[in-house]
Amino acid sequence: MPPPLGGHGGRGFMSEEEKASLPKVTPALLRRVFSCLTPYWKQLILTLLCIIVSSVFILLPSILTGKIIDEGLIGRDLSKLIFYLALSFAVTLGANLIQVAESYVNTWIAQHITYDMRNTMFAHLQKMSQRFFTSNNQGDIITRMTGDISGVEQVITSTFSSILSNSITLVVALVAMFRKNWILALLGIIIVPAFTLPTRRAGKTRWSITRETQECTDEINGILNETMSVSGQLLVKLFGRERHEYEKYRDVNGRLIRLRIKESMAGRWFRVVLSLFTNIGPMLLYLVGGILMMKYDSALTVGDITVLVALLGRTYGPVNSLLNIQVEWMRSMALFTRIFEYFDMPVEVDNAPDAIVPKSASGSVRFSHVNFSYEPDRQILKDVSFRLDSGNSVAIVGPSGSGKSTIINLIPRLYDVTGGSVTFDGVDVRRLDLAFLRRNVGVVTQDSYLFNGTIRENLLYAKPDATEQELLDACAKANILDFILAQPDGLDTMVGNRGLKLSGGEKQRVSIARVLLKDPALLIFDEATSALDSISESRIQEAIDPLIESRTSILIAHRLSTILAADEILVVKEGQIVERGQHRDLVKAGGVYAELYETQFSRALENEDRPPDEEPEKN
Ligand code: ATP
Repeated sequence: MPPPLGGHGGRGFMSEEEKASLPKVTPALLRRVFSCLTPYWKQLILTLLCIIVSSVFILLPSILTGKIIDEGLIGRDLSKLIFYLALSFAVTLGANLIQVAESYVNTWIAQHITYDMRNTMFAHLQKMSQRFFTSNNQGDIITRMTGDISGVEQVITSTFSSILSNSITLVVALVAMFRKNWILALLGIIIVPAFTLPTRRAGKTRWSITRETQECTDEINGILNETMSVSGQLLVKLFGRERHEYEKYRDVNGRLIRLRIKESMAGRWFRVVLSLFTNIGPMLLYLVGGILMMKYDSALTVGDITVLVALLGRTYGPVNSLLNIQVEWMRSMALFTRIFEYFDMPVEVDNAPDAIVPKSASGSVRFSHVNFSYEPDRQILKDVSFRLDSGNSVAIVGPSGSGKSTIINLIPRLYDVTGGSVTFDGVDVRRLDLAFLRRNVGVVTQDSYLFNGTIRENLLYAKPDATEQELLDACAKANILDFILAQPDGLDTMVGNRGLKLSGGEKQRVSIARVLLKDPALLIFDEATSALDSISESRIQEAIDPLIESRTSILIAHRLSTILAADEILVVKEGQIVERGQHRDLVKAGGVYAELYETQFSRALENEDRPPDEEPEKN
């Protein structure tokens, strides 16, 4: 790609803000970049050798031109002419073959380094807590995984090797020029800086154009990610925001093409200047060389002048590349900095070094004076304490936003408490092996996520080695078997993107079946708040009731029947447990629960068609 030149809004230099965004190239950063390369030091040495040999070989034909002219043509010696021509051909061929080998080794190194980086990044991101995924834009995460790491590949295959090969070519060409004739060599050195001024300006603006283009691309990715997702499109359609979204996209897209045009035109102007100087340079050398030969009786031959002109031509490219390399280098360092930023993000929820792996789990849970906040200045849970013994169940009820989901998030350590402790089977969850903990805690969320695949694939996610019979049993228990068997493809029915080809109720029953296959010691069920019809509701209820009976469970309940199935009711308000006990007592107490009962559960009551007071008491 030709280096762009000038033309960036008429500014040739970086603004203060742009300068401030440049990465700080510290020795520590450099050490870290090189530490990515060190595992491949053998291949790097091979590349280096290839670059040195090919850079020298590529210049040899220019140097041999002198001999071809002086000894072959002017000396009228056919055998020498053929010999030098054959030699030129051989070294050119050799240089090209070596370059092929070099680019193979180089690409191999780049691919292996980026392979390592992608894997490390993926593994690291998998360890990040939910906080990371809720607070970072999905588009940004994907750009770092794909765009930035591909950028690194580019850096290794082009920037690093270009610095090396250009420096070597330049040094060899200059040495050869000085050995031929120092006056003409000096003249060459004076001509070269004449075209460096505009290219330097170009180089400086290139950084800012690249940065702006990157920002624009990020923005476009963000828009596409949000609007092209199923729920995003649903929102757009239902609110009739197509025009608004289109205009937003069109604006960024417009900005991007303006930047691209600027980039391409900058390259165009640069080529005009470059071609002017590449033509003037040889003319000056012929003129001064001619004067030296004719007027000052210099020992200079026609062949020498031709060699010098040829060598001068060979220096333009490397000088130009090296002048722009500063920007290229900065861009590379910025890429590494962005990637390392992700690598350095602390893993909030990590396995303790001496994590405990108990032999079995009973599913008992205890919250002791738990405080929690997602953001430092807003406390969500305040002094939450409760215990759930093995085999029992609790229902958590409370107004929307009171912190019910937050409480259950702390059990499988989607987040860690900021105060107090959560214990599972008598051990603080932070001391338990994460894999053990999560294997023994099964969660059915409100909006269950199904991967785009078949029902079978989604079920096997919980237990990859489940037998057909186990799958069918789990589906039967989750009350979804009839539905599945009624489908032409049975278990191999596709669920669509995020399971959206299934109804809300079917989706939740498939996810109940999935959690049943996992067979956790503790079952957490976050009941959907979304209105399901009463048939769907009762089918879920039929599935969930026996489960609650048979295992330790926590239910975030919105329906009376679920609440009544639990052994204890915890009432949460503004992050605190304000009431606890049995349904009848809580209604009598006339507090928050009684109010919720009046306002929220009455609909459920109508559906269930039975007065709560007639419900048999639990415990
Ligand atoms: P609902 O019944 O509507 O699901 P809930 O009782 O489960 O509500 P939570 O989801 O636990 O409520 O939310 C409790 C509070 O924490 C809310 O005020 C919410 O705004 C806040 N909150 C939830 N998730 C996050 C998050 N990832 N980052 C910051 N704040 C959050």
